[in-house]
Amino acid sequence: MANIVHVLTTSAQRYPDRTAVRHAGRRTSYRELREQAARFGSALLRRGLEPGDRVALFLPNCGQYLTALFGAWYAGLVAVPMNAKLAGPEVAVILGDSGARALVHGAPAAPLVAGLGLTGEAGLHTVQVDVGAPGGDDFDRLLAEGDPGLAPAEVAPDDLAWLFYTSGTTGRPKGAQLTHRNLTVMTWTLLADVCAYTPDDIALHIAPLSHGSGLYALGAIARGTDNLIYDGGGFDPAAVLDLIARERVTVLAFLVPTMIVRLLAVEGKPDTGSLRCAVYGGAPIHVEHSRAMIERFGPVFVQIYGQGESPMTVTYLNHATAPDAPLDSAGVAHPGIEVSILDADDRPVPAGEEGEVCVRGDVVMRGYWNNPDATARALRGGWLHTGDIGRIDERGVLFLLDRSSDVIISGGANIYPREVEEALVQHPAVAEVVVFGVPDETWGENVVAAVVPATTPPPPEGELISFSTTHIASFKKPKKIIYLEALPKSAYGKVLRREARRLVLADD
Ligand code: AMP
Repeated sequence: MANIVHVLTTSAQRYPDRTAVRHAGRRTSYRELREQAARFGSALLRRGLEPGDRVALFLPNCGQYLTALFGAWYAGLVAVPMNAKLAGPEVAVILGDSGARALVHGAPAAPLVAGLGLTGEAGLHTVQVDVGAPGGDDFDRLLAEGDPGLAPAEVAPDDLAWLFYTSGTTGRPKGAQLTHRNLTVMTWTLLADVCAYTPDDIALHIAPLSHGSGLYALGAIARGTDNLIYDGGGFDPAAVLDLIARERVTVLAFLVPTMIVRLLAVEGKPDTGSLRCAVYGGAPIHVEHSRAMIERFGPVFVQIYGQGESPMTVTYLNHATAPDAPLDSAGVAHPGIEVSILDADDRPVPAGEEGEVCVRGDVVMRGYWNNPDATARALRGGWLHTGDIGRIDERGVLFLLDRSSDVIISGGANIYPREVEEALVQHPAVAEVVVFGVPDETWGENVVAAVVPATTPPPPEGELISFSTTHIASFKKPKKIIYLEALPKSAYGKVLRREARRLVLADD
């Protein structure tokens, strides 16, 4: 199995003059993308990086993203994607744990990066990108140093390609190690079951390239597709619909359910008849929303269920090829990817019974970076234990019931209550805190914190909310603070998160 950069090098041979990437009025052909990626990779090697070293990508969606990603692979380096909204302490933890030797970041993040104090002696090379600007930045200077004739690095199939950090419920982020084999097989599953991209497709990328949309770009690149990177800043549903109509977009590369709900709420009806495929997933979607989206846009939707440890690939539900599939399901397994429901003793349960969703196959991560205990737990018995509770019916259709952990999914982003609690508890007026998600029509769930104040009167709600954002990304901040005299606790003194949530919901 080849270096995953093969998906680009072959398309550069077959479709050199076709458009590979468009962003902010800039167009990059397949020939140029390959050349720039080779330059980027070779420039990093010339600066002293060695194959296997990690390159952190702390970038918002932009044209340069795919250059840096493929450039890292060209040189046999490992990409460490980071959500562009992360706060300084979160970035520092990922850089420290991964031991990244280069950090590619957007210009607006320059003060945050300078505040980390990690350059110089720590040997971290920083590369600043003027996202959407016409050139002449650090990134362009780096490309000018590089060699466009670099040969793709020889890698073994199980060499690391993408180190994806998913915070654990314990608060310590874990790096899921994905290999060239994992990404190649993920690309096959995409092209076989989800979206058979062609050179005539125009794929719109709206969700962060640091997550699913970036991974699913690999299939589009493999087929010579034109990748249009949305540059509207935040997600503006009316602008997205207009863009689809204006550019005759054929594929929505990846949407989280919240985006679909917001698209459905737009009153105007621009012509979206060019769409032939829209991939969504990453969080549960309500049946009535599934029904409404098919009614409004046609049977173009394909749901995918996956997680960072088995990226974008556990099951899929293609509404076009399986029009009778139950809308409340997550579909069926891809060929070659085994999905099983196991009980607490890791024994398979009979069809229709609940248990933990477990996965085995070439898409499953190699393990967590530097974390043998978490790896042994997650991969025990050779199966990836997803932490999701589900059941599989007689026909092999998976239904997801709940999450065994308490992860909050808001707007498709995973938020770990413990991280939010650790931020809030640092405020002097907070004695105790427990955080949980409550249902929300638009976002799926909203973050709520129940706080026992240390002062009378308690601090204003707005003060605590803004305090939290000095430690965690703004999208993780609580939407609401509820003051309680005491938190519900078990006989062992453990805070009962679900009980606190129940009390708050009952009070609403
Ligand atoms: P992440 O590792 O950030 O990709 O989050 C993965 C988690 O999101 C899974 O373990 C599920 O709990 C949830 N998830 C992903 N896809 C779906 C889906 N199609 N339906 C319901 N939940 C999903």
